[in-house]
Amino acid sequence: MQIQENISLKLYNTFGINATARYFAKFTSLSELNELFHLEFSNKEIPTLVLGGGSNILLTQDYSGLVAINEMQGIEVINQDTLHVYVRAAAGENWHRLVVYCVENNLAGVENLSLIWGSVGASPMQNIGAYGVEVKDVFYQLEAYNIKEKKTQVFSAKDCEFGYRESVFKRKYKGQFVITSVTFKLNKKPVFNTSYGAIQQELDKMGVHELSIAAISQAVINIRQSKLPDPKEIGNAGSFFKNPTISKQQFEKLQTEFPAIVGYIAKDNTVKVAAGWMIEQCGWKGYKKGDAGCHSKQALVLANYGNAKGIDIYNLSTEIMHSVEAKFGIILEREVNII
Ligand SMILES: Cc1cc2nc3c(=O)[nH]c(=O)nc-3n(C[C@H](O)[C@H](O)[C@H](O)COP(=O)(O)OP(=O)(O)OC[C@H]3O[C@@H](n4cnc5c(N)ncnc54)[C@H](O)[C@@H]3O)c2cc1C
Repeated sequence: MQIQENISLKLYNTFGINATARYFAKFTSLSELNELFHLEFSNKEIPTLVLGGGSNILLTQDYSGLVAINEMQGIEVINQDTLHVYVRAAAGENWHRLVVYCVENNLAGVENLSLIWGSVGASPMQNIGAYGVEVKDVFYQLEAYNIKEKKTQVFSAKDCEFGYRESVFKRKYKGQFVITSVTFKLNKKPVFNTSYGAIQQELDKMGVHELSIAAISQAVINIRQSKLPDPKEIGNAGSFFKNPTISKQQFEKLQTEFPAIVGYIAKDNTVKVAAGWMIEQCGWKGYKKGDAGCHSKQALVLANYGNAKGIDIYNLSTEIMHSVEAKFGIILEREVNII
């Protein structure tokens, strides 16, 4: 394994931000990962940033520590019972490749999560979600390397304390573990979820009369390709902000002033408000300042149209947060990890 110095991270983050890593390495196995944390310089407590696809980070400055890219590969069935198949994937695997594997093997549960960027390892960290499904719904367990104790540990779903785009790895264990593999519990008998977003409409458009895992996956792919900018063309990290949750009472009060406000009632009688709608109402959709902007089709997506610096995008996000708070009294939270 090679340790490089002063490497541009432009190709390692989907925003395409040209920040530099003081030290840089790629690891392909647990032993290489272990080796990294036994190097002389890593004992001097320099910070380490482990990345998969770099699709949920915003680099606001050069990184003074070690950036380690997880390239651990492999997908295997490790067990099955009458109803489920347990699939373990190495953390460096591409998430969508895992989805394709499941679709091809008729394993249900992740089809609604088709075409999400990034790695398997980041999926529980973020509890990724789309079209009414979250990773926690198919999660069985994961293995993670404890950086301080230099050994691996197993985490159950309960240990991970999943929330909306949240887990222990983003909060109390931040920077303490490297996820090395994730095991998913997939269904042999699919329970289709087509109620969210435009899935049913897309299936109708595709002429699908009989639901299947493959058809739903394809519908999700079609929808995502039509509405989200491709980071290969326009730098972005998907939704920049979370959809805030407020009380039903607060939502009803807002509805009197803004009858068109978009919200989804949750089981606990709270309301998840569409952050994109509020951002659009504040006039940001399609806004551009230099190369930093708010996407013209999807206001929740901030974009690098060329050579924006991470700090330009960060400052734009702060301005957006201030205007949403001033208009709606709601404080937005960034979904993207700010580095
Ligand atoms: C166009 C686009 C659309 C998107 N749509 C969605 C969507 O629909 N739903 C959704 O939930 N997300 C979405 N995202 C966000 C992103 O795809 C997910 O958050 C994804 O899980 C990030 O994976 P990654 O490997 O790129 O993580 P990275 O950006 O590399 O890392 C993200 C964070 O996780 C940490 N991390 C990464 N790997 C590990 C590991 N092995 N162990 C410990 N920590 C780790 C990093 O240190 C960092 O803090 C979208 C992004 C893009 C660009």
